[in-house]
Amino acid sequence: MGMYYCRKCAVEIGEISDEFPIPDNLIGTEYKLEKFVKHNFPTEFEEIHSIFKEPNLRKYSQYIVNTSASGCLEIDDHGRKNLIFVAGETTGYTLVNGEIFRPDDAVRLVFYKDTNKIHAFPTSGSVIPKLCSRCGCPIVF
Ligand SMILES: [Zn+2]
Repeated sequence: MGMYYCRKCAVEIGEISDEFPIPDNLIGTEYKLEKFVKHNFPTEFEEIHSIFKEPNLRKYSQYIVNTSASGCLEIDDHGRKNLIFVAGETTGYTLVNGEIFRPDDAVRLVFYKDTNKIHAFPTSGSVIPKLCSRCGCPIVF
């Protein structure tokens, strides 16, 4: 079970700031391009694999901008920091062994501080608890 923080707390603990800009080119490194293809136009599937409903770079870029601007902070069990944005629409699907397991309604932005590795994929907003781990306020979207 990870920890989840509202925007205000994420800013206060220094995990969201202007120091982490979104790069202009979201497929500008081999790593980022590979992740874009993996979650938009996959040619092979991992055991658990999420794909965007509307696979294209424009929508992908929109989701990254929106998640960066409005997402809450997740610190997962491995200490990785991600931003999650519940989109209010079906963002994509999570597949297990190549079959649709669930529709997703959120976007997880990972490596959001690393301009060379930043990327996003669909996830379920149901992973997020209702209250901030730090201040106890509702995590509002
Ligand atoms: Zn908080």
